[in-house]
Amino acid sequence: MKTLIPLLLIGSFLGLIAAAQLYDTGLAASPIDIDDSNIPYTAADVGGEGIDADALAKLNEVRKKLKIRYQVVSGFRSKEENKEIGGAKHSRHMNGLAFDILVPDSDQAKFYEAAKASGFVAFGWAHDALHIDTGNKRWWTYDDDSDAMYGSAKCAHLDKAPTNFINDPDYGAKAWCDKFKRKHISKRL
Ligand SMILES: [Zn+2]
Repeated sequence: MKTLIPLLLIGSFLGLIAAAQLYDTGLAASPIDIDDSNIPYTAADVGGEGIDADALAKLNEVRKKLKIRYQVVSGFRSKEENKEIGGAKHSRHMNGLAFDILVPDSDQAKFYEAAKASGFVAFGWAHDALHIDTGNKRWWTYDDDSDAMYGSAKCAHLDKAPTNFINDPDYGAKAWCDKFKRKHISKRL
């Protein structure tokens, strides 16, 4: 009896886990849906103490506005780390001002609104992810291999950005890229 009770307890616990996994793969929502949106991002979550306190506060403002804690895949990067992963030479990640965040395409419009309102000024658009920073105002896109596209090349991947960004006169992405389209057309004629 002494050993049976703990075994039974473990057995029912494993049963619960199995049930939760079944729910996850099925159509029903998981009964264990953990809402972590009220848990602040800390420096430890975003690359360590090199992160800029103001940028981190702005990131938490976005989290609070959207009530979603999106996964940050990169925050502060040392010079060495940045070189290793092939980051831009003057990447704002090295100043602790930047975050790469997994945001599904379907959420990018509302994320853009919240991030802009919280004081982020730079946006790099990728499929289901984006780069934001508090450095200086600029924008770019990533191709399907996650390589950053600058200059007129970024227009070829403008579909990675949400329409509210594309049409935002503050960045003028649409007008700027339309100019290049016209150039290409007139070359062909
Ligand atoms: Zn980045």
